[in-house]
Amino acid sequence: MRVAVVGGGAVGVTAAHDLADGGADVRLYERDSELGDDRTSPRYQIEGSSHRAAGVLAPRPTDAIGAEIASRAMDRFEWLADRDHRFSVEPTPHVTVVAEDAPEKQSALRETVAAAREHGVDVACHDPESIADRFPELDLAGVGLAAVTERAAYATPGPGAYVAAMGDRAREAGVDCWTGVDADVSHRGDGPRVDGERFDAVVVAAGGWTKRVLAPTGIRLPLKPYRVQALVSGADYDGPMVHDAGAGVYFRPHPAGLLAGDGTVPEECDPDRWEPAGDDWFVDGALDAVANRTGFDADADAAWAGLATATPDGEPLLGEVESGLYVATGWHGHGFLRAPATGEALAEQVLGERDAIPAYDPGRFDGPPEFAVEEGMSL
Ligand SMILES: Cc1cc2nc3c(=O)[nH]c(=O)nc-3n(C[C@H](O)[C@H](O)[C@H](O)COP(=O)(O)OP(=O)(O)OC[C@H]3O[C@@H](n4cnc5c(N)ncnc54)[C@H](O)[C@@H]3O)c2cc1C
Repeated sequence: MRVAVVGGGAVGVTAAHDLADGGADVRLYERDSELGDDRTSPRYQIEGSSHRAAGVLAPRPTDAIGAEIASRAMDRFEWLADRDHRFSVEPTPHVTVVAEDAPEKQSALRETVAAAREHGVDVACHDPESIADRFPELDLAGVGLAAVTERAAYATPGPGAYVAAMGDRAREAGVDCWTGVDADVSHRGDGPRVDGERFDAVVVAAGGWTKRVLAPTGIRLPLKPYRVQALVSGADYDGPMVHDAGAGVYFRPHPAGLLAGDGTVPEECDPDRWEPAGDDWFVDGALDAVANRTGFDADADAAWAGLATATPDGEPLLGEVESGLYVATGWHGHGFLRAPATGEALAEQVLGERDAIPAYDPGRFDGPPEFAVEEGMSL
């Protein structure tokens, strides 16, 4: 079976590796010049989101398929970290905090935590007083409710290292990697093609570019790319990963000090014309939130944006859209932490080893519906 994978981010390299491992003859096309790198913050000219992610691995799934995907992804991250010295996961608990004057957000957090616990996630709600001794790095003034996820980690030196390590494994498994190639996908009824060449299957894992890549086939994907942001500061932080839901900011330890993120701009942006630098309002707000919770008063050494992808119901688009043509996108800012499992699930579908996942079926909507971008971090 000849398969092309278009897009060499975390999802594409995983799918390509697994397809080759399963016996397929695979060619991977990536527009950027490299498959991943070992940097702790992204280079300006590399656009793929897996290079630009924050690398927070703190899944809190609320349904059975989400739980299966999250657990499998963590297993695979840990497996790779045990075997590849360039990529590591740093186990670190994740704390979500909600303000005492936000009763609706507190209820939403309680509901999310209860649903996640039902699906086997090691997470619990706590009064701020009861976790103050455990997390002395945090100022919990004004916090009404906290939730601590125990099986959480961050990717280090950065998420691009996962792509680089899996890219090498893909090559070793026989994947022919074509980097620096902006591939065109078509489907003329007799099967999918890339740059005019016919393949038995084509997987489009092109992140925020997926809708544009599919446009020549006439397939209209209900997908909106939008900007999210992150920064690195020299604040010497060594506490838990934190999501301050009121401030709309998360932060975690980082090799250079501290990484903070969110900065969601909840509107569709053009994947060919977007601002890759961090916005001033995001930098100021994130540093204020960090100072408020940690006491650190540091500047940003780097700030950047990247593309996340929204769907009408917040669930991914993963599966076949036309005979032999598959997509994997729509992660709402949580695509990196699921990539080892979503890439695997798609490879298994292409190889005929797994049924499609109905909740992620790209064809589940009646025509391309109108929808607003809902930010993936909101409660
Ligand atoms: C600032 C920021 C912080 C984030 N933090 C987190 C986080 O902490 N945890 C988390 O889980 N997720 C996070 N995300 C989201 C995460 O980065 C994405 O969901 C995930 O990386 C998506 O992986 P992907 O492989 O689907 O897409 P990508 O990594 O974007 O890969 C798609 C690739 O397709 C390539 N491509 C596009 N068009 C073509 C073409 N025509 N031909 C060839 N190649 C093409 C692109 O160059 C790109 O490399 C964050 C995102 C950003 C921007």
